[in-house]
Amino acid sequence: MTAITGECFCGGIGYEIKGSLAPARSCHCSRCRKAFSGAGSAMSRVDPATFTWTRGEELLQTYVNREGAGLGFCRRCGTTLCGLFDGEVTGITLGSLNGDPAVIIGEHIFVASKAGWDEIGGKAPQFDAWPASDGKPLGGSKA
Ligand SMILES: [Zn+2]
Ligand SMILES: [Zn+2]
Repeated sequence: MTAITGECFCGGIGYEIKGSLAPARSCHCSRCRKAFSGAGSAMSRVDPATFTWTRGEELLQTYVNREGAGLGFCRRCGTTLCGLFDGEVTGITLGSLNGDPAVIIGEHIFVASKAGWDEIGGKAPQFDAWPASDGKPLGGSKA
């Protein structure tokens, strides 16, 4: 099977993922709206062992919070490419993927705090905040 690839808007940074992508999570909270400059985030979890930067890693800028979770984006064009934890790539933004890697949105979270202009389509389950199964306390992330 061919590897899944992605890149930023300017093309400076490229990556490759071996295997298939898990159903993605879309978070509609106010923080994700800022971080992803849109209706929210759309990110699929990746196993760091299956992920490789194929070019331009020197252009990657990171923004990491106190808990060690962060985002990686292109210093030149601003595309948000990945989620990071402890310096490893643990998530990939669906918007940065090339072609159609056959990934779907598996769930919408923090729907209670979505933007007024955000109309969610599709059949994926919607949660007001964290899904109950997530194990994270409700209100754990101020949305
Ligand atoms: Zn770029
Ligand atoms: Zn969020």
